[in-house]
Amino acid sequence: MVNKGEYVSDEDWRRFLEFSRDLETPCIVVNLQTIRNNFTRLKGLFPYADIYYAVKANPEEEIISLLAELGSCFDIASRPELDKVLALGISPERLSYGNTIKKARDIAYFREKGVPMFATDSKEDLKNIAQQAPGARIYVRILVENSTTADWPLSRKFGCHPDMAYDLLIMARDLGLTPYGISFHVGSQQRDIGQWDDAIAKTRYLFTSLEEDEGIRLSMINMGGGFPANYTQPTNDLAEYSTEIKRYLLDDFGDDLPKIILEPGRSLVGNSGILVSEVILVSRKNNTALNRWVYLDTGKFNGLIETLDESIKYPIVTSKDVVGGKEAEVILAGPTCDSMDILYEDYKYRMPVDLKIGDRLYFLSTGAYTGSYASVSFNGFLPIKTYIMK
Ligand SMILES: *Cc1c(COP(=O)(O)O)cnc(C)c1O
Repeated sequence: MVNKGEYVSDEDWRRFLEFSRDLETPCIVVNLQTIRNNFTRLKGLFPYADIYYAVKANPEEEIISLLAELGSCFDIASRPELDKVLALGISPERLSYGNTIKKARDIAYFREKGVPMFATDSKEDLKNIAQQAPGARIYVRILVENSTTADWPLSRKFGCHPDMAYDLLIMARDLGLTPYGISFHVGSQQRDIGQWDDAIAKTRYLFTSLEEDEGIRLSMINMGGGFPANYTQPTNDLAEYSTEIKRYLLDDFGDDLPKIILEPGRSLVGNSGILVSEVILVSRKNNTALNRWVYLDTGKFNGLIETLDESIKYPIVTSKDVVGGKEAEVILAGPTCDSMDILYEDYKYRMPVDLKIGDRLYFLSTGAYTGSYASVSFNGFLPIKTYIMK
């Protein structure tokens, strides 16, 4: 049985139970107060950094508006994300186009709307930016190796080798753009703080060589996301991330710290959400099988995609949990007719032996990469709904 006190306060749990009692499942309940606290804490631990919330983590309007009110800026990846954020009255000055994969006409659109800053990691994209957004600020994303220590790696697909970043920033200047900085993402749910050390060292090298060889003085480091949310696998506290990262920055940049940007997604909203699902069926594959299969009304296609490869292991509470109650291992699966729709089979959750059809399962820490990461209507199942608890 999960000790839910590690994830949610008694008070918040009571409020949540009351709020969710009559809601149809599956659904996600997001606690806005948790996000407010997370933002305030992050800002306190990184007072020297500007925070650009990665909208993709949870694009609910109330969340964006709350963060805007608290002073956040936003990392935007697409036109619809941009439209949504602008429609909420947020100034384009507070936005950055962080996707390195974009169409020329989308660059033009971002430019027209007044977004000042663009990420890139390739020559062709840079040429498009030079054409569509002359003079814009450019930051180049460098590759960092993070496939083994991040639970949801973002390696390989994004970023370029530092040698190429060097060339791109020279090219940016030559094309009339403003070479502005370096970005990296050490991988989402990154449990090895040392990954920031390597990335910052590479960044330092680029700052120095570009200034010495080319007279290009960069002014910004975008350290991406990667800070953890609270799942079953232990992580260091955010305070330890902050202490260590500050030390890496001081070691490499001393007092001459450039502008620092953070793009948190998961760590800001992850623990704000609780996904409520209902048990559709409990069964065994033969009369003597030790494991029960527990089928739920939520699965990989309506909210829990990050269970792919069992990458993210959410803490799960059931409506039958009792301290000291008898439990046994289960295999958890979703409702669709796709055999990929199994949530956890290798990793065995233990659940009450009297778990029955109609009981509820509560997936804690499901505020990030769930609601917006669901299919439209695979097998006819509707996208999972999010409710905001103020
Ligand atoms: C997804 C993403 C983030 C957020 O990462 P988290 O690990 O959720 O904090 C930040 N920056 C970029 C460019 C991203 O694509």
